[in-house]
Amino acid sequence: MAENPPVCNYEGSDYQTSFWERGDRAYEDAAEGVAIKRLLPKEGNLLLELGAGAGRNTLRYLGFKKVVLLDYSRTQLEQAQQRLGQSERLMYIAADVYRLPFQNGIFDGATMIRTLHHMSEPALALNQVRNVMKENAIFILEYANKHNLKAIFRYLFRKQQWNPFSPEPIEFAALNFDFHPTTVASWLQNSQFAVERQLTVSHFRMSFFKRFFPLKLLVLMDSLAQLTGDAWQLSPSVFVRNRAFGSRTQGKEGLFFKCPACGNGLIDTKPVITCEACGKVYPYENGIYDFRLDK
Ligand SMILES: [Zn+2]
Repeated sequence: MAENPPVCNYEGSDYQTSFWERGDRAYEDAAEGVAIKRLLPKEGNLLLELGAGAGRNTLRYLGFKKVVLLDYSRTQLEQAQQRLGQSERLMYIAADVYRLPFQNGIFDGATMIRTLHHMSEPALALNQVRNVMKENAIFILEYANKHNLKAIFRYLFRKQQWNPFSPEPIEFAALNFDFHPTTVASWLQNSQFAVERQLTVSHFRMSFFKRFFPLKLLVLMDSLAQLTGDAWQLSPSVFVRNRAFGSRTQGKEGLFFKCPACGNGLIDTKPVITCEACGKVYPYENGIYDFRLDK
């Protein structure tokens, strides 16, 4: 296992505009909205949005009193801030998911959507997420499913080399992975997340459907097909609602942050937070905390 797994960095990327706003992804976005609404509790206190990007999904989480948007890319968070503004209810944090800057056991909700597929060490990342969650907290995970119908047909007709039935992740482009549902389920179980419900999403992510079916009909068809997610998973995207179980080492009482380098508790002394144990300095600039170690 790599000591410092690589992170996929969207720094300076116009991903939000090119992929979501100009990229004909209205169907995927709406289908995800349906899934989130079905899985996320209506209310809660503190939610961690992992891989928040430009904040495309954040408004869907505002049943929670406070949302922490976390991304490795500072520029993505700047875009999120432009879109959502600064508010007491939102907190913007640039950090590495493998080294989260939070005390253990503080969040009662978390989401990770379209993020796991950039991770070369997903089991390690999921374990970090579990650390910062309370017992019984809800974690919504979306992952890219290698065991999808299109990949299965392509494999059977020899248009594709890799085997969609085998358990290991497939890295189809640099730091882009598809995962097998059984493997993801075992990672979740090992990290003390109990799967409560699964929804399969984006069944009709093909240009044929997008060209010949109206958007509303596609979203309706997807929202019905999602309900088979507990029985089988053959769609390119899968949403899983998990509940954190078991106990973990508790964080320091009264503190929110910890040093991602050495684990020491940090007092929020923004605009500059200095770790008294290792001397690392973490700035807070223009509404964004920066806890990245090697930027
Ligand atoms: Zn430190």
